[in-house]
Amino acid sequence: MKEITNKIKETATRLFKEGQVDIFMAWTKGDLPFQTKPYFARSVDDVDNIIFDEYSIHNLSGTLLKFRDGQEKIGIVVKGCDSRGVVRILEDNQFQRDRLYIVGVCCPGMKDPLVAMKNYSGFNNKNSAEGIAAKCLNCTTPNPVIYDEIIGEEQPPHLQGERFEQVNALENMSYDERYKFWADTFSTCIRCYACRQVCPACNCRTCIFDEMKPQWVGRENNSTDNMMYHLVKAYHMAGRCIECGECERVCPVNIPLMLINRKLVKDVNELFGSYEAGMKYEEGAKPALSVYNVNDPDNFL
Ligand code: SF4
Ligand code: SF4
Ligand code: SF4
Repeated sequence: MKEITNKIKETATRLFKEGQVDIFMAWTKGDLPFQTKPYFARSVDDVDNIIFDEYSIHNLSGTLLKFRDGQEKIGIVVKGCDSRGVVRILEDNQFQRDRLYIVGVCCPGMKDPLVAMKNYSGFNNKNSAEGIAAKCLNCTTPNPVIYDEIIGEEQPPHLQGERFEQVNALENMSYDERYKFWADTFSTCIRCYACRQVCPACNCRTCIFDEMKPQWVGRENNSTDNMMYHLVKAYHMAGRCIECGECERVCPVNIPLMLINRKLVKDVNELFGSYEAGMKYEEGAKPALSVYNVNDPDNFL
C-alpha cells in the first residue's frame, strides 16, 4: 500500500504542477489508524497528506456531484467499484469527462472502518477490523473500468460464494413469507438516508424524498412510509446500481440493501438481457430502463 500511496502522490504532484487539476480527490489519515477518510487536495502543498491504505474503502465517485456545476478540473483516485460509480455519473450526464483525470488503483480488497470502530468501542479496544469488508467479499470488479492512468497489479475478483445465492433463497419463499421478511426488515429503518447520500446512482438534483410540494412520500418513520421509501429507491436503482455495496455498509441498522440491489440486477438481466451497470462508458449510452422504445412490450399495463 505504501508503494501505491507514493505513486498516487507522484501523480497528484505532477498534475498540480502541470496545471491539469484544481482538486485531487483521494484519502487521508484519520485520528485513529482505521479512520482513513476522503480528502480533497487543493494544491501541491496538500499532496503529502494523501494516503492509500487498507481502510480507503469509501467510494469517492459520489463526491463529484458537489462539483458538478463548477468549472474545476478534478483528479480522482478510483478503485474498481468507485470507477463504476464514475461511469454511472458520466452516463447520467452529471459530470463532463473532460473535467476529470482518473487515477485507477487495482484493489486488493479493503477493511471496513465501521467494523473496526465497533471492535474498538467498549472494552474490546482492538484497533482494526478482521478480514476484508463484507462488500468486498462479493466484488466482481476490483480493477478500474475507466481511467487515465492505472496503478498496481490487476486483481482477481474477490467473489466468495454464489453471487445470487441469497436472492435465490428469497425467491423460493412464498409471497406471504417474503412480505413478512421485508416488513420486519424495513421496520427497523430509521430513514436516516445514509444509503441515499452515499450512493453514486442517487444523483437527482431534487430527490423525491425531499420534495414537499407535493410530498410524494411521507416522512414519518412507520411501516407504510418505510416500505414506500425502499420501493421507490429500488425502482430508481434498477439497471443503474453499480453494486459498490456502500449503501449496505453505511446503514446503521444493518438493512440488507444488497439483497434488494442484487435482486434488481438479476431481474434486469433476465428481462432485458445480460447487463452490468457502469462497466463501460460510451458517450450517449443509457442503462436499461432509461430509454423508451415504442416497440417495448407493454402487456403489463
Ligand atoms: S468492492 Fe471491490 S473494488 Fe470496491 S473496495 Fe471492495 S474489493 Fe475494492
Ligand atoms: S441507511 Fe439504513 S436506516 Fe438509513 S435510510 Fe437507509 S436503510 Fe434506512
Ligand atoms: S444502491 Fe448501493 S450498491 Fe448500488 S450504487 Fe447505490 S450505494 Fe452502490
